[in-house]
Amino acid sequence: MNNEKILLGVQRPARYTGGEFGEVVKENADLRFALCFPDTYEIGMSHLGMKILYSLINSRDNYACERVFMPYPDMAQKMKDRNIPLFALESGRSLCDFDIAGFSLQYEMCYTTVLAMLESGGIPAQKSHRGGGKYPLIIAGGPCVCNPEPLCDFIDLFVIGEGEEITLELLDLYHNTHSRGDFLKKAALIGGVYVPEFYNTEYNDDLTVKSISPDTKITKRIVKDLDGMFFPKSFIVPFVEPVHDRAVTEVLRGCIRGCRFCQAGFIYRPYREKSGGVILEQTRALCENTGYDEVSLCSLSTSDYSNIEELLGRLTDYTDRNGISLSLPSLRIDKFNGEVLRRIKSVRKSGLTFAPEAGTQRLRDVINKNITEENILSGCKTAFQGGYSAVKLYFMLGLPTETDGDVAGIYSLIEKIMRLFKEVGPKKGISVSVSLATFVPKPFTPFQYEPMTSREEIEGKQKLLMSMVKSRKVKISRSGYNTSFMEAVLARGDRRLGQVIYSAYKKGCVLDAWDDYFDFNKWREAFGEHGIDPAFYANRRRDYNEVLPWSHIDTGVSREFLIRENKLAHESKTTPNCREKCANCGFNCGR
Ligand code: SF4
Repeated sequence: MNNEKILLGVQRPARYTGGEFGEVVKENADLRFALCFPDTYEIGMSHLGMKILYSLINSRDNYACERVFMPYPDMAQKMKDRNIPLFALESGRSLCDFDIAGFSLQYEMCYTTVLAMLESGGIPAQKSHRGGGKYPLIIAGGPCVCNPEPLCDFIDLFVIGEGEEITLELLDLYHNTHSRGDFLKKAALIGGVYVPEFYNTEYNDDLTVKSISPDTKITKRIVKDLDGMFFPKSFIVPFVEPVHDRAVTEVLRGCIRGCRFCQAGFIYRPYREKSGGVILEQTRALCENTGYDEVSLCSLSTSDYSNIEELLGRLTDYTDRNGISLSLPSLRIDKFNGEVLRRIKSVRKSGLTFAPEAGTQRLRDVINKNITEENILSGCKTAFQGGYSAVKLYFMLGLPTETDGDVAGIYSLIEKIMRLFKEVGPKKGISVSVSLATFVPKPFTPFQYEPMTSREEIEGKQKLLMSMVKSRKVKISRSGYNTSFMEAVLARGDRRLGQVIYSAYKKGCVLDAWDDYFDFNKWREAFGEHGIDPAFYANRRRDYNEVLPWSHIDTGVSREFLIRENKLAHESKTTPNCREKCANCGFNCGR
C-alpha cells in the first residue's frame, strides 16, 4: 500500500500492515494466489484452514500465496476515498493483480463480503462483467460450497471437498494451461471441481427446481491418510490478537455421531484420525516454531478420539514440562470424566461448555444427539467436583417436532444442574450461561427437507423460556431471528439468489455475520426488487422427491440415507454412531 498515513487514522493499523513473524514474502513467483477470507483479519487469522492452505501453496518455491481480508468499515472508507484498491498483506499488491483469488466460505453470511472484496479489489463482482482472462480466476471452497448455487454468478470455479487434496493439482493445471477457457474445460474434469457455467438449471411453475443438467455429479475430494497429509510446521504469529491466538493441532476429521441438524457432521465424513505420534510431533513443532504457550486440539468432537486419555497423557507430558497450556474446545459431555478433567486442568482452569442442544430426551432422540440427562448431569458433576463453577450450555430452539414441553425441558435441565452444583460444587457461586440459537436447516443433513420455524413461533418459545428462568445466576443469550433466517435462505438457495445477493451488496450489505453491520431491511428491499419471497427458501418443507438445488453435488452421503434418517427423526428413533454400528450412509468406509 502506498499511502501509509491513513493507517494513523484507523483502529488497530497492524491489521493492514503484514510483516508478522512467519509471513512468507516472495519477490518472484510463476503464479500468485490471493487467499481471501471474507471477514476481518482477527477472524480470518484464527482459521486453521487458512493457515494450512497458506503454507501448502507457499511450500512450492515458484508459487506465492498472500492473505487478503475484509478491512473494517473505518479502513474500507478511507481506502475508498483515496481510491486504494483492496490489497494483500504480504506485498501490498492489489487483488486484481493476482492470477487467482481463492475465497474460503465458512458461513453463508459472508456472501456480500465476497462481492465487496472483489469490487474493492478492482474486480467486477459479476462474472458476466469480467470477460476473458483479464481478471484473476475467482475460486471458492469451504463448507458453504456444498451448495454453491447462490454464488454461481460470481465464482468461476468451486472446489468441493478438502483443500489439501486438490489445491496444488488445480494450481499446476492453471500454471500449465494458456487460456482461461481451456483451463476451465480441463479443470472440470478434475474430481471435486465444479465449474458452474457448464451446468444449467431449469425451474417448475411452482418455482422449485425442475432439472440440473448435465446430470454428471461433482464428487467431494477427501484426504484418505491424515498422517501423510500436509500440515504446517509453523504459523504466522499476528501482531493484533485474533479471536483464537494459539497453536492449533488437528486431531481428527469427520464425526462418528450423526447429529441430524449438524451439517459439518455429514459433509466432513468419513471419520479419520491422526495417530498420537503425529499429533505430538505437530504440536511440538508448532509450539517450538511459533513460541505459543497455548495449544488447542481441533476437531468436530475431540473427545471421540479413539484413545483420548492416552493422547492427552502424551501431550500433557510435553506441555506440562514446557509450561504450555492445552485446551480441548469440543468436548462431548458424555466423554467428560475425571481423567480428562485432570489432564485439561493441569495448566488451565476455565468455564466448561457443553451442548445438550435440546431440553428433553424425546427431542434429543429426534436430533440423534445420543446423550441422556444422566450423561449431562454426570458430566456437570465431574466438573463441579473438580472445582469448576461456570458452565455454558448451548441449546437450539425451533428443532423439528419441538413443543412447549421441550422448551420447558430446557428450564428443568438448568434447574437440575443448579441443584447439583449446590450439592457437590465448590463454595463459590455457580454461573450458568445459556445460549439459545435458532435452528437453521442445512443441505446434506437429514433435516434438509424441514421448514425453518417461523419468527412468531421462535419469539414465543424464547419468551416462554425467559419467563421461567428467574435466577440471576443464569444468563440467557439468544440469537436474533433475522440473521438465522438469512442463513436459512442462503444455505438452501438456488441460482436465482445471485441477483438478490448482488442487490443487497449494492445497497451496502457487508460483514453480515456481525450484528453491528447486519441490516435486514436492506436484504428485504433486495428481495422485493426481484420479486423473490425469501420464505420460499427458509420456511418451506421440501418433498423427498423435490430436485434440490445442490442435487448435482455428491458429498458421499446418499439421498436414501438422509431420507431414512429424516423419517427416523419423526419417529424419535436414534441411529447408533459409526463406531457402534455402521448406518450405511453411503461411504462404504468398511467399519
Ligand atoms: S459408511 Fe458407516 S461407518 Fe462410514 S461414515 Fe457412513 S455410517 Fe459411518
